[in-house]
Amino acid sequence: MRHLACLLVAAAIAAAAPVQAQDLAPAAAAVRDRALDDATAWKLVESLTTEVGARPVGSPAMMRARDWGLATLTALGFANVHAEAFTTRAWLRGEESAEVVGPWPQKLQILGLGNSAPTPKGGLTAEIIVFRTYQAMLDQPPGALKGKIAVVTQPMPRTQDASSYGPIGVQRRQGPVEAGKRGAVGYLVRSLATDGTRLPHTGTSAAGGIPAAALAPPDAELLERMAARGKPVTVRLVMNSTLVPAAQAWNVVGEIRGAEKPDEVIVVGGHLDSWDPGTGAIDDATGIAITTAAARLAASAGPPKRTLRVVMWGSEEQGGSSEAYLAAHKDEVSRIVVAGESDLGAGRIWRVSVPAGGWAHPEMRAFAATVAPLGVLTPTAPALQGGSDIEGLIEAGAPFVEFSQDADRYFDLHHSADDTLDKVDPRDLAQNVAVWASFLHLVANSDIDFRALKTAANR
Ligand SMILES: [Zn+2]
Repeated sequence: MRHLACLLVAAAIAAAAPVQAQDLAPAAAAVRDRALDDATAWKLVESLTTEVGARPVGSPAMMRARDWGLATLTALGFANVHAEAFTTRAWLRGEESAEVVGPWPQKLQILGLGNSAPTPKGGLTAEIIVFRTYQAMLDQPPGALKGKIAVVTQPMPRTQDASSYGPIGVQRRQGPVEAGKRGAVGYLVRSLATDGTRLPHTGTSAAGGIPAAALAPPDAELLERMAARGKPVTVRLVMNSTLVPAAQAWNVVGEIRGAEKPDEVIVVGGHLDSWDPGTGAIDDATGIAITTAAARLAASAGPPKRTLRVVMWGSEEQGGSSEAYLAAHKDEVSRIVVAGESDLGAGRIWRVSVPAGGWAHPEMRAFAATVAPLGVLTPTAPALQGGSDIEGLIEAGAPFVEFSQDADRYFDLHHSADDTLDKVDPRDLAQNVAVWASFLHLVANSDIDFRALKTAANR
C-alpha cells in the first residue's frame, strides 16, 4: 500500500511538473526538418499562379481562385472546408495609356491606382507640375494645381523590414485626394518600387480622388528631366475603370480539428486575391502556400490538441476581408489562441515576435531553439503588426504573432507584372514553412495562453 501511494504521489507530481523546453524540442525539430524537405508549398504556389494567375477581387478569376482554394484544402485533407461569402467594393482596370504630348512626345508606362476615377471619355490632356517630394505637393495652397496633372517623384528606399512602405506609401494612398483638393485634374506618382525596370507598380488609393496612376520609376525620372528644362510639358492620360460597389468575395477556410481542445483555435493564413498585372506569386500565393503547408506539417505526427485553421482571405488588396472575417467570427475571438498572417513574399524569416512575455514559456523557448539554426532571431520586444487581414481580430482582442521576412527584394516585384513564380526561391519558401510549422506544432500541442499573457502585459 505504501508503495502504491508513493507511486500515485510520484505520478501526480509528474503530471503537475512544468513542461520543459528540452522535452518539446525534439518533436519540433522533427517537424522543422520535415518541412525543409517538403515540396507542398512550392506546388501550391506553382498551381495557383499557373491555373488561376492574377485574381483581383470582383473578377471572374477570383471565383476560380475560390474554387482552387476549396479544392486544394480538401485534397490536402483539411476538415470543415468552406467559403465564407461577403460583399466588398471592387475596382476593375480598363483601358489605360499615358503619353507626353509635347514638347518631346513619347509614351509613358503607367498602371492606374485602385479606386482611381476614370478620365473623361477620350482622356484628359493637361500641363504637368512635378514635385520631387510628396511634402512639396502638400505644401501647395488650395487651387495652386488648378487644371494641372500633379506628378510626385519621390523614390522609395530599399529596406530589409519593409518599413519604408508605410511612410512613402502615403503618396500613393492619399496623393490622388490631396492633389484633387489643390485643384489638380490628374495625378501621377512614382511607383512604390525599389527596382529600376520600366514596369509600373499598382496599388490601392483612397476613394474620392482624381484620375491617378503609378509611373514606372524611369518614367518618373524622365518627367523630372523634362520639367527641369523649363518649358511647359503636356501629358495626355486615358484611363477607364469599373467600380463595383458590392462585389462578391469569399474567405476560404479549412481546419485540422483539435483532438483535445477543438474550441481553442489558431488562425493563420494569407490572402487569395491579388493585383492584376502579375500572377500574384509573392503577393500572396506564397503566404497561402506557407501557412497551408505549415499547418499540415504541424499535424504530421498526429492530430494537434488545439484546432489549426487556415484562412485564405479574399480581399486584402482593396480591403474588406479583415472586416468580413471579424464580423463572421466576433463571438469566437476569446477562443482564438493566436492569429498570424504571411503576406510579405517568400524572403526568409529573420525574426519572430510574439505577445509580450511569451518567450518565458517552455513552448516558446523550445520554438526559439528550433528555429535559431534557420537564422531566426527571437527578441523579447512584442509583436507590433500581424497583417492586414487579421487587423479586425487584433482590434477585437485576439493575440497575434509577427513573422518578419527579409523584404529586401520584395518591392522590386510587388504589385507589378514581375510578380511571377520564377521570383520565388524554393529554399527560402521552405525556410518559411519550417518556421511556421514549428511554431504551429508547439502552440497547437500546448496549453500556452497568449490571451492571458496579453492581459497581463496590458495591466
Ligand atoms: Zn499582400
